Amino acid sequence: MNSETELPFDYRIVRSRKRRTASLMIDKGRVEVRVPALADECWIDDWVRSKVDWVLPRLQRQTQALEQRGIDIRQGGRFFVNGRELELQWSRGRQSSVEVDDYRIEVRLSARVRRAESEAVREQLQQWMAQQAEQRLVPLCQALGRELGLKPSAVRIKNYRRKWGQCDTRGVITLNWRILHLDPALQRYILVHELCHLKEMNHSSAFWRLVSAHCPEYRESRRLLTETYPYLIW
Ligand SMILES: [Zn+2]
Repeated sequence: MNSETELPFDYRIVRSRKRRTASLMIDKGRVEVRVPALADECWIDDWVRSKVDWVLPRLQRQTQALEQRGIDIRQGGRFFVNGRELELQWSRGRQSSVEVDDYRIEVRLSARVRRAESEAVREQLQQWMAQQAEQRLVPLCQALGRELGLKPSAVRIKNYRRKWGQCDTRGVITLNWRILHLDPALQRYILVHELCHLKEMNHSSAFWRLVSAHCPEYRESRRLLTETYPYLIW
């Protein structure tokens, strides 16, 4: 039976022939319901209604994170570097550049740029972040590796939208440049996490013991990282 009241959120239905049961996902402030191909609309609606108490607090947490940490590419908008909130400004100049002080990040767009300014600024900021990550994150990871006695065969920078980093079986650590948005303590946790994979290629209890030896506050860091997803989606 459908009740009269409207649900306090919208959701998207994804049907799949392989699926036999329904499941709910909340991702980046959006609710998705995955159901078997032939599931009945009314049944889906009732089922989602039965999950409201589970969905709402999670959805609110994600929406709040977006309000507090969303990167906002417009004049006077918000940007984050090393966990610090900065005001974004841009102007035209002869050469393109990015400059940061304690309160502001200023992008100089080349006078030759013809596209929509906000798109050009977005691209310039992403390139700048990737360069900064090469210059700062790579040596930081190598130094930390020496300190912990865990030596990666290489450290690389990449753009990921779903993860902060990875470590492969050849010992190559790849770091997301978006790590530079985070507070330095969280940056360190991610580097320690990936370095520990050089010894433990899994998330076993032995792995977490190793992480905890080098980063005792890792539980808190993991919790805080769940609130930083807005940095992954701009
Ligand atoms: Zn891991």
